Amino acid sequence: MAMILTRNSIETAPFLQEMIETTTNLYRHGWDERNGGNISYLLNQYEVIPYLDVTKVIRTIPMNFDASALAGKYFIVTGSGKYFKNVKQDPASNLGVIRISEDGRSYEILWGFENGGVATSELPTHLMNHMTRLSVDKNHRVIMHCHATNLIAMSFTHILKEEEFTKTLWEMCTECLVVFPEGVGIIPWIVPGTNEIGEATAEKMEHVRLVLWPHHGIFGAGNTMDETFGLIETAEKAAEVYTIVCAQGGKKQTISDEQLQALAEAFKVVPRPGILNI
Ligand SMILES: [Zn+2]
Repeated sequence: MAMILTRNSIETAPFLQEMIETTTNLYRHGWDERNGGNISYLLNQYEVIPYLDVTKVIRTIPMNFDASALAGKYFIVTGSGKYFKNVKQDPASNLGVIRISEDGRSYEILWGFENGGVATSELPTHLMNHMTRLSVDKNHRVIMHCHATNLIAMSFTHILKEEEFTKTLWEMCTECLVVFPEGVGIIPWIVPGTNEIGEATAEKMEHVRLVLWPHHGIFGAGNTMDETFGLIETAEKAAEVYTIVCAQGGKKQTISDEQLQALAEAFKVVPRPGILNI
């Protein structure tokens, strides 16, 4: 007698629920207007198999860069041109589960992207970032991009030197140095959706988990969805405080370098060199 393998509905998969909750929360913050923002979440095969027949490929989509370092890996990804606002009501159109092909030159759609959809146009940046982060952190899993309002605003008003930008964020909320001691990476303005912006971002991601795209938004990386979302939230909160501090007439006092150093020692983090004058 043939065994009939029953699968759980993918709607109940924890990774799908996390994607729905996170896109909804990002939208609520006002950081993902229209089709702004994108997320990719690296999945283990054992997480996917209870919900999907991974031998059934719906479509194969070519890519014009080499992602062979991720061959066979699974991701749940937001869709190109899709709105975070709509993910909750229609996950199967707005999200997709993909697997990188063996030669790293295409991805296979295993679920979602209904009605001819494809993965986010920022997939090159996402996959390049995943490759870089995995090379320095084997527990890495999430890449998240959004249009965090105050960080974008700061890219017009603040000097775009990484050390100075990072120092300002560290000063604006005591938690910042503890949450991102390695600081923020900043790339030049580059046309989005290109391999060029992906390569520039991934280069930064070797040393940082936050990369600012001036006049556009922020990329965050992390081991979990909560951690990545929290990282972006923390930087954006500091940028919001900076906005308010400037509106109130600027700093009259701040957290001193000695105090930031004491904070780092108390929380056992190493501040990026070249920022604190100790
Ligand atoms: Zn964007």
